Amino acid sequence: MKAEPPIYEFTTVDIPPKVKAPRKPQKRPPYVPRPKVFREYECADCGQFFTRDRATAYCSLVCEYVASTVRYMRSVDRRYPDGPPEDVAEAVRTMKAHALAGGYDKKARRLKPERREEVWARDGGKCVQCGADGEEIDHINGSSSDLANLRLLCRPCHGVITRSRFEKVGEDDHETKALAEEIFMRVKSPEPMHECDAPEWSERGAWQRWATTHSRPTT
Ligand SMILES: [Zn+2]
Ligand SMILES: [Zn+2]
Ligand SMILES: [Zn+2]
Repeated sequence: MKAEPPIYEFTTVDIPPKVKAPRKPQKRPPYVPRPKVFREYECADCGQFFTRDRATAYCSLVCEYVASTVRYMRSVDRRYPDGPPEDVAEAVRTMKAHALAGGYDKKARRLKPERREEVWARDGGKCVQCGADGEEIDHINGSSSDLANLRLLCRPCHGVITRSRFEKVGEDDHETKALAEEIFMRVKSPEPMHECDAPEWSERGAWQRWATTHSRPTT
């Protein structure tokens, strides 16, 4: 008797292991750095347009410093209508002198805590000038954070030394004299002459707002 053909034929199939198809060697396109997007910003202090690749409100350190000096002096004027106490007056003089001398690089002069401790330990916690308790670290010359350029001072000695470095504005230094006059006018003006002269400028997001609303793409 002839066998009936099976209805179903079962076969076993080898399921091939999943192998990743060998990667075709792909040619990578040459690296082209994304061009930085430059915009023109209006300096909140001097009003000049300048080009930068990131948002900023000032064209320079000098402008940033002048603006903060004006703001500080306006707040002092309003707080002490009959004249500020001597220590505040001194702080104002120092700031103004720095502003006229082209700004003061706070960032460059910021010391790491380890460095502060080193100076403190080396000078025995005392003012190297008079031996009183040390309060402030002075940069002897310029912004270098080398140990040799730093010394511990008390506040009064630091004040005396800082003031001794001030120079009188030269009679024919018209640029500096004009800046001094501008600062004076901006401080005395009843209404802030620039947005960055108002106390609100120090609020969170104020300068960023300025930078976005006072900028344009470069052409
Ligand atoms: Zn400027
Ligand atoms: Zn001292
Ligand atoms: Zn100093």
